Amino acid sequence: MIQVKEAQKLILSQDLPSSTSKIPLQQAVGRILAQDINADRDSPPFDRVTMDGIAIQASRFSPEKYFFIENTQAAGQPPLTLSDPEHCLEVMTGAVLPLQTDCVIPYECVVIADGKARIDLSDVSAFQNIHGQGTDARKGDVLIPKGSTITAGMVGVMAAVGYTHVSVVSPPKVVVCATGDELVPVDQTPLPHQIRNSNSYMLQAALLALGIKADTVQIADDRDKLRDGLKKLVGNYDVLMFSGAVSKGKFDYLPEVLEELGLDKKIHGVAQRPGKPFLFGTVGKTLVFGFPGNPGSTLVCFHAYFKPWLRKYQGLAEKHLYATLTSDLVFKKPLTYHLLVTFEDKDSVLLASPVDHSGSGDLVHLGLADGFVSLPAGKDFWKAGSLVPLIRFD
Ligand code: AMP
Ligand code: MG
Repeated sequence: MIQVKEAQKLILSQDLPSSTSKIPLQQAVGRILAQDINADRDSPPFDRVTMDGIAIQASRFSPEKYFFIENTQAAGQPPLTLSDPEHCLEVMTGAVLPLQTDCVIPYECVVIADGKARIDLSDVSAFQNIHGQGTDARKGDVLIPKGSTITAGMVGVMAAVGYTHVSVVSPPKVVVCATGDELVPVDQTPLPHQIRNSNSYMLQAALLALGIKADTVQIADDRDKLRDGLKKLVGNYDVLMFSGAVSKGKFDYLPEVLEELGLDKKIHGVAQRPGKPFLFGTVGKTLVFGFPGNPGSTLVCFHAYFKPWLRKYQGLAEKHLYATLTSDLVFKKPLTYHLLVTFEDKDSVLLASPVDHSGSGDLVHLGLADGFVSLPAGKDFWKAGSLVPLIRFD
């Protein structure tokens, strides 16, 4: 049995080259950018008026002077030219600064009467209320680097520089395999000795939250059926994600069937609670995550092992969060203790409070948890106020 950190390291060392695809910009938010985004022209592309008002030559300003209004420069029009430096042009926000002007005075500081404007200020300066061409970026500059997680703001930038489609990291192809003769589909009423297959839905939802639309299959606790079922999956998916059948039970056939199919077993058993029988390996190029079936174990292992792997696959850096415990904790086993918690943000400190639950089979309380703290093996007492590693379910 290996320690949690070693298991995580082993999983992160698995190389699975990701592929990319081009998608419409409207679908890009939340995806990982697989190309640099370059400016196709200066930003702003012209000297842009930033206030509705009048444009003059600053050097011709004096406080009591009347400026004859020559014309109006609207947004979206090619630039007008001020023909007489003693005059002014009315200008609108977003318009090109008219030629032969260098200063914009907002209407709030101007009195207009009989086609003339008087500026109600004691002083003005050149370039005021003008967003100069190329202030923010020059043509060809990288505006958003490859590897960024695309936000709505970035979509705005990409639209502004003319990208209708962008290259993003394709999600891995994942199938969720539920095992167990006790499972019935969610829309059926189980007999007293049966349960509904909730893990498939839970894992599918957890994957969807990460942008992965996974397929699902359910396979019986039968060696031959398992072998036949798995043969169809291996090679057709990047990741096989199992729930159940990895422990020491008489019908936990998964490890041996996977080995028959050529599993290179890297992990089977981690010093942790819950999730001790966790299995991980590769069959050819396909990665196999075998999560123990208890819902608490399944979800904790998903977050502790699959999620960091996915970040690496997508080219993202590892993410480490910490929270402060709100109560003392005792755990006297030589295992990493993944403890379900709710958390709240108090004065920018993340506070984690244990969720009272009856173990990894307690699906009711699992649903109430925001995540879990991972208390490393080697210590059996944690004081309230201790800073501990936290993994969020969202
Ligand atoms: P196993 O890991 O197969 O020994 O299963 C451990 C526990 O998890 C058993 O109580 C199973 O009934 C339960 N379990 C396994 N698979 C699922 C599933 N797909 N949905 C809900 N519970 C499950
Ligand atoms: Mg089972």
